Amino acid sequence: MALLIKHGEIITANERYVADILCEGESIRRIGRNLSAPQGAEVIDARGKYVFPGFIDPHVHIYLPFMGTYAKDDYCSASRAALVGGTTTLIEMCCPARQDDALASFELWQGKAAGKSACDYTFHMGVTKFDARTEKQLRQIVRRGINSFKVFLAYKGAFGIDDTELYRTLQLARELGVIVTAHCENETLVAERSRELIAAGKTGPRYHEPSRPVLVEAEGVHHLMTFTELTGAAVYIVHLSCQEALAQALAARARGVRVSVETLIQYLTLDKSYAEKPRFEGAKYVMSPPLRDKRNQAVLWQGLRDGLVQTVATDHAPFDFRKQKEMGRNDFTRIPNGIPSLEERINLLYTYGVKPGKINLHTLVNVASTQVAKIFGLFPRKGTIQPGADADLVVYDPEYRGKISVQTQQMNLDYSAFEGWKIAGRPDVVTVRGQVAVREGKFVGRYGHGQFLARRPGYY
Ligand SMILES: [Zn+2]
Repeated sequence: MALLIKHGEIITANERYVADILCEGESIRRIGRNLSAPQGAEVIDARGKYVFPGFIDPHVHIYLPFMGTYAKDDYCSASRAALVGGTTTLIEMCCPARQDDALASFELWQGKAAGKSACDYTFHMGVTKFDARTEKQLRQIVRRGINSFKVFLAYKGAFGIDDTELYRTLQLARELGVIVTAHCENETLVAERSRELIAAGKTGPRYHEPSRPVLVEAEGVHHLMTFTELTGAAVYIVHLSCQEALAQALAARARGVRVSVETLIQYLTLDKSYAEKPRFEGAKYVMSPPLRDKRNQAVLWQGLRDGLVQTVATDHAPFDFRKQKEMGRNDFTRIPNGIPSLEERINLLYTYGVKPGKINLHTLVNVASTQVAKIFGLFPRKGTIQPGADADLVVYDPEYRGKISVQTQQMNLDYSAFEGWKIAGRPDVVTVRGQVAVREGKFVGRYGHGQFLARRPGYY
């Protein structure tokens, strides 16, 4: 059925104008003034509202066996939460354990999404070991539509790879034109400092940050930059949290290293004092890299404004406070990592970024949609509003006022890290390839409508 969105203010990364959008089939057919509705078309009045391209979260975990447990969401709850929050495409990390087979894992992850997801999705392929068999399988996986790898410089023994494996992964990526996304922390320093803190009886959530301070992350970035420069690969630093790490990435970029930087909505809005909350509540705010000193927030916002930081993601990894986070009650190193915010990324960026003037509407679209699409080979099918693009649209109501609460969230989780936070706007209508998935802020989508997005490599 055709869909006509009338009188909305269309916002892309570089344009802003009032017009009607006619969607037919799965795509945007026409954009213009006073378009008339074809027979049987649904008409949505977007007067007084913004119309954004569907947002893309470049870094989420949905199926995630981690630290002896499993993340709580499945593709039904995660895609529902994403859509209610205005996110129409997810890029999930496929994270095999070191002993797992790459191809079998890729198929396992695909199977978790297929037939369930209400929004579109694709994967970064985790390279958690590198040997001849894995290399062969990675080539196959790239042929099946994956153009990004993920490596962990941290989590040695679980997902982490050694330097030989890192070097060879980057070489392969260079050859295939694949971008390598990387978790940058020095694992040896994390392990040593954690051991010292625990031995000294410093076991609470507040000691998670001191176990992996900013220099540990900056060292990880520097390390990756050296390997990237020597291999000529293209890389993407996931969840960059602090000024020291950003400085390392920018120094490398100035030398010609092909590096993109992602930060998270959590680092922009929360700081390490949250992980210091009493009675173990700080565990809700444990993730890696950890929440930092508040001074870093201004640096990250500025980085978004200046185009030094390319994207804002969530690293969504939902673990319940009860039973799951509690596994680390006597040892912060056993607290499952993650501050779930898949559902709230856009509303938080809008309320705490656009409203106070830290970023403008174009930057919001750019960092949460357009740049993601460009970096990961989805543009211009995704990431902008133009004829021929997928009809993934967010009609955003800037007059809405509400509060975030565990009582109303769609994520499958027993807490909200943003409980009671005010929201000054929300997605009113959201479409996925021309189908209405959210209406008046409520999920009305269809599980299984989401498609796997095959992507072609392009970083040569
Ligand atoms: Zn992650």
